[in-house]
Amino acid sequence: MPMRLAEFTIEKIQSGLRQREFSAAELAKAALAAIEDKNGELHAVLAPLALQALAAARTVDDKIAAGEDPGSLAGVPVAIKDNILVAEARATAGSKILENYIAPYDATAVAKLKAAGAVLVAKTNLDEFAMGSSTENSAFGPTRNPVDPERVPGGSSGGSAAAVASGMCLAALGSDTGGSVRQPAAFTGIVGFKPTYGSVSRHGLIAMASSLDVIGPLTRTVADARAVYDVIRGVDEFDATSHNNNPKPKSGLNGLKIGVSKEHFIEGLDPDVEKTIRQAIEHLTTLGADIVDVSLPHTEYAIAAYYIVMPAEASSNLARFDGIRYGLSEHGSGLLETYLQSRGRGFGPEPRRRIMLGTYVLSAGYYEAYYRKAMQARTLIRQDFSKAFEQVDVIVSPTSPSVAFKLGEKNADPLQMYLEDIFTVPANLAGIPAISVPCPRGAVESRSAGAVSGHELPVGLQFMGSFGADDLLLDIAAAYQASYGRSRNSF
Ligand code: GLN
Repeated sequence: MPMRLAEFTIEKIQSGLRQREFSAAELAKAALAAIEDKNGELHAVLAPLALQALAAARTVDDKIAAGEDPGSLAGVPVAIKDNILVAEARATAGSKILENYIAPYDATAVAKLKAAGAVLVAKTNLDEFAMGSSTENSAFGPTRNPVDPERVPGGSSGGSAAAVASGMCLAALGSDTGGSVRQPAAFTGIVGFKPTYGSVSRHGLIAMASSLDVIGPLTRTVADARAVYDVIRGVDEFDATSHNNNPKPKSGLNGLKIGVSKEHFIEGLDPDVEKTIRQAIEHLTTLGADIVDVSLPHTEYAIAAYYIVMPAEASSNLARFDGIRYGLSEHGSGLLETYLQSRGRGFGPEPRRRIMLGTYVLSAGYYEAYYRKAMQARTLIRQDFSKAFEQVDVIVSPTSPSVAFKLGEKNADPLQMYLEDIFTVPANLAGIPAISVPCPRGAVESRSAGAVSGHELPVGLQFMGSFGADDLLLDIAAAYQASYGRSRNSF
């Protein structure tokens, strides 16, 4: 029987390796075999890292044989979103403009994973430059959802989510600028954690919108997300916005105050998703939490503010792709021609749209009307959260207004796609931590009674915490997931 990675947790791998029940090489081979087997259909992976993975696994096995400590993530097969640099591997960011770009160094998060013994098995697919909510904007073709291959896995970290959900790896790194870790986790039935802004270094992450971007883990369980986060977190001399969160004492759900905001139950929320979320909130009360109504009145401005701030920053970040310094270079008759041709051929429709939007909102005369207003709205959104967190420990909401949609269903209308991000972008604008945890369809008690109708596509429950309260958030999310026993998905 081949090993099935979906049956492992990081903890199980650590004890199994140390008790010589299996080797890191066997785990790496199982991951590479699963990629070989499933990637034809899912297209979660852009490039397997077979040689690097087998070499890293051998190092772990040698250390164990020599009685040395192999690290807290020893032998764990991990995939990396292709906008995060792994030295000597391609980093395309899902774009033609970087199709042949080889990373010269490791991102700090990647270097930390390697130092902890993790085995990097693949680079994963994403929407071009992480711009999108379905992974359909990848220049290399879409990823499919392992739960239902007719449907998208969400985005932009859809490749990372599909790789974890289909058992190609145990954990993956994604990046979250407006929901790109949480929403694909929700769509594929796994856990996705967006840490507090700055608590994971952005060094080696291909920048989209620098005041919003954060690297976070996608895993099957909250405990695994924490194990990865504990390795990648912390201040880094290469990222001036990075900082340390002090780990907080453990806490359970009993007596906790959980905020629910009416602004999260609005028109456009799929009734089936709403029902599932309301049942989950009910379930939290049975675990001893107090549900408190909170108000986040400026939530309605979040999408508009985000789709001004993000393109403004993205347009400036993407200026570096000039046909000279990185990637695709189309030689024109002069410098300007080279620049225009390289960018014209290299960027797909979504980056172009955002570069134009961003350049427009920053241009003289429009700056006050758009960018400045958006920054004011951002401040109000941040203040809403600060006030709410005076009353409650965490806030819960749906992660996404819908379940995974069909390929092609939303990509004709960019605005429709942007609305997908309604519940996730506020946390990025405020910089606060947020996590999506799979939400069983129907409370445990009523499941057997057949009380839940409709399809069984995954729904994510989002927990948001105050700035820096990542550990508390993870404790609460873990307690919630544990209350349902094992993570419900296993493919
Ligand atoms: N879907 C959002 C967007 O298209 C978020 C992307 C992200 O978090 N990288 O901008």
